Amino acid sequence: MTATVPATSTSSQSAQLPELITHYIDGAQLPSSAGETFEVLTPATNEVYCHGAAGQADDIELAVRAAERAFLGPWSSLPARARATILMRFADAIEARDGRLAELEAFDTGLPISQARGQAKRAAENFRFFADLIVGLNEDAFGVPGQQVNYVNRRPVGVAGLITPWNTPFMLETWKLAPALAAGCTVVLKPAEWSPLSASLLGEIAEQAGLPPGVLNIVHGIGEQAGDALVKHPRVPLISFTGETTTGQLIARNSADNLKGLSMELGGKSPCVIFADADLDAALDSAIFQIFSLNGERCTAGSRMLVQRSVYQEVLDRLQKRAAAVRVGSPADDRTELGALIHPEHYARVTDYVRVGQAEGARLLVGGHRPDHLPVGNFLSATVFADVTPAMRIFQEEIFGPVLCVTPFDTEEEAVALANDTRYGLAGYIWTADLSRAHTMAARIDSGMLWINSHNVRDLRTPFGGVKASGLGREGGRHSIDFYTESRIVHVNIGTVHVPRFGMGDEAS
Ligand code: NAD
Repeated sequence: MTATVPATSTSSQSAQLPELITHYIDGAQLPSSAGETFEVLTPATNEVYCHGAAGQADDIELAVRAAERAFLGPWSSLPARARATILMRFADAIEARDGRLAELEAFDTGLPISQARGQAKRAAENFRFFADLIVGLNEDAFGVPGQQVNYVNRRPVGVAGLITPWNTPFMLETWKLAPALAAGCTVVLKPAEWSPLSASLLGEIAEQAGLPPGVLNIVHGIGEQAGDALVKHPRVPLISFTGETTTGQLIARNSADNLKGLSMELGGKSPCVIFADADLDAALDSAIFQIFSLNGERCTAGSRMLVQRSVYQEVLDRLQKRAAAVRVGSPADDRTELGALIHPEHYARVTDYVRVGQAEGARLLVGGHRPDHLPVGNFLSATVFADVTPAMRIFQEEIFGPVLCVTPFDTEEEAVALANDTRYGLAGYIWTADLSRAHTMAARIDSGMLWINSHNVRDLRTPFGGVKASGLGREGGRHSIDFYTESRIVHVNIGTVHVPRFGMGDEAS
């Protein structure tokens, strides 16, 4: 990073911001080798507040070489405790920047500052969790009495390529960085080009934590350039990607020639099923928070609410009242519940879905417009559509904004069919007092993660990921370590070796 300029937007009057967000390669802050840059906007006003270094294949090559050197020298072979000690210091350094991180994240992504504050805490926890996990990790061993002992010898795969989206950038970057580094991989991270600001702190955090140069490398840039070069690099054996399903499909195709290990956390259109016997207060609190917090830009949001018909009208009435009262405002304002969507392109996409929903015949219950008091920036009022049917695009497609689609159902059978009637399968939520029904539904809904009578709360040990078009593979807990390491089996004979004796002629029998 170079000089800083004061932020001019309402989002963060006090923030000192870089003029150029640089790469971090081999412990140094660098511009792009070709000198190219891209514009970075603040969503509250859409002003260009700085530029990012636009990485190309040359910058990726530089970063991969640094990561290869650091892998051997000797990050990959350090004792787990030595790596964990550095990761713990990483967590401390993140927490020490709690306020600054939240300020930058709110300014750069449009997330309400009160919600951005939680991101730093979660990011620090990612490092502490995987530091603990790697120290406590034990391996499988298999005894075959009198014959063999077999044991697993695990080793880090090599240079991991990490590609992340813009919705909760810092949290998602650390969600990948922490297990990769704990496992002994070195990394090249390509952050999303719409939200590069908070990642610009990672270099100084790494230095403060004592991370050796080259272990963590960051190359900023456009997905089709820097991201593409990382995916196609022959000496990057792993890609952990979070983003849109169509991008994930392209990355899978581009990884095929090099047979890369892939972890894909993709889009969602998750059902929130509310039965008439549910605790409606709790169900509504959770459903409303989930779709309108993080600006509705949450991969696991219950964006399709399925409601049993006998309580349908009551739920619509309550939704209408609550959604109309959701406070839309400046991301920098502590009272804001719904901030500014990330980028004018995304804003156009989300608002277009509002028009599509109306044209398809869904009933716009509340919202769907720019609030009068926010004439500039990517602001949309909390929006609810009722009477949405599976034939509609707004039922099928991920909107990734503060737009809730509500559909009535009569029977459990119908609820399962509706829940599964999309190509996605990331998360699901079931609200009912009948536990037997809840478990039956949980087994039948096609999703990687399911919550029963619960808000979206995760323990970091649990597997995270989706089925169908929502992803490939699992991260979280040991699943992450499995991804970043190769488990190799060693077979040891401890008895007499009985081998058929070829080439011995008649003597063999
Ligand atoms: P995106 O797919 O547009 O971009 C994600 C990242 O991929 C960015 O860094 C981008 O630069 C890069 N990229 C784009 N094209 C590329 C290419 N050809 N090769 C390599 N890299 C490329 O996604 P987005 O719009 O940033 O994020 C929103 C999406 O992410 C939503 O669909 C959301 O559901 C999903 N998401 C999923 C999860 C999950 O855990 N399942 C979590 C958060 C977000």
